[in-house]
Amino acid sequence: MDERIRKMTYKEWTDEGTRLFGKDKKNWKFICPNCGNIQDYHDFEKLNVKNIQDVVFFSCIGRWIDDCKGEIGNHKSPCDYTNGGLFDFSKVRVLKDGKEISAFEFAAEVELDDDLTSQKEPEHNPEMCIPQGGVAA
Ligand SMILES: [Zn+2]
Repeated sequence: MDERIRKMTYKEWTDEGTRLFGKDKKNWKFICPNCGNIQDYHDFEKLNVKNIQDVVFFSCIGRWIDDCKGEIGNHKSPCDYTNGGLFDFSKVRVLKDGKEISAFEFAAEVELDDDLTSQKEPEHNPEMCIPQGGVAA
């Protein structure tokens, strides 16, 4: 058992999100445990992703960006990581309706951590993945 994994009830989780980012879940920011990408509901909205409320804390937004080359191991960001894949790197487990749901950490918590010093800029721009200068496919 990995002791860094935090288990919390759904209420504890929503309380924490509300304390950090306010009541509107669309403003809650999550960090991908693989690449460190910080994402919120609005980032997914721009990509017309369905069921955003189910994936924003569960899958890195790179999965919806065709030109994104981030994957487990290469540390490019954003990446195609998801908690639902072969590996689950997420450190939060939310207990809801008798089920344990893996969740990305809230971005604000990670920023307090010293081992992720590169995440100073909270705003993420998904366009960063698109190759500059029109690279031919
Ligand atoms: Zn990622």
